[in-house]
Amino acid sequence: MIQKRPALFLDRDGVLNVDRGYVSRIEDFEWVDGAIECVINFKKRGWYVFVVTNQSGIARGLYTEADMQALHAHMIEDLAKAGTAIDQFYFAPWHEEGEVVRYRRKSIDRKPGPGMLLQAMADHPVNREQSFLIGDKETDIAAGHAAGVGAFLFRGGNLANFAEWALASFEDGMR
Ligand SMILES: [Mg+2]
Repeated sequence: MIQKRPALFLDRDGVLNVDRGYVSRIEDFEWVDGAIECVINFKKRGWYVFVVTNQSGIARGLYTEADMQALHAHMIEDLAKAGTAIDQFYFAPWHEEGEVVRYRRKSIDRKPGPGMLLQAMADHPVNREQSFLIGDKETDIAAGHAAGVGAFLFRGGNLANFAEWALASFEDGMR
């Protein structure tokens, strides 16, 4: 039998990296304090760590999917240097009023929709009840709840410290 594991779902902009608005270039990318440490801590616990990120900048024509992938490759490289990794990046390039026809649509993947989280749980044996999301917007929280996982609103500061607090309070709530 496959052993299910809990998952930490992390929003990207405003959680893992400083949100400068549609970040797409490596030179604009800056890790939030404690972000890499947060990934390290949860991977050490045997958790899945997933990124779930709305990237409507692609639908809006501000940058391309390839630009985003290059940025993610940069993140993966930094994480690898620290001896850790994100299990999978999920992104929603869609927007219903996007400039780019290919990506112009409403999608359950775009938060507050739960699509990316549900996809992650379809792709990997996740223990949903033990899993939670950290986001910096109410739409992140709504997506977490819609997917049936816990959800915590990060308001800045050190992400590793916040995630430890979130885990403790989540486990408290389950008791
Ligand atoms: Mg965000």
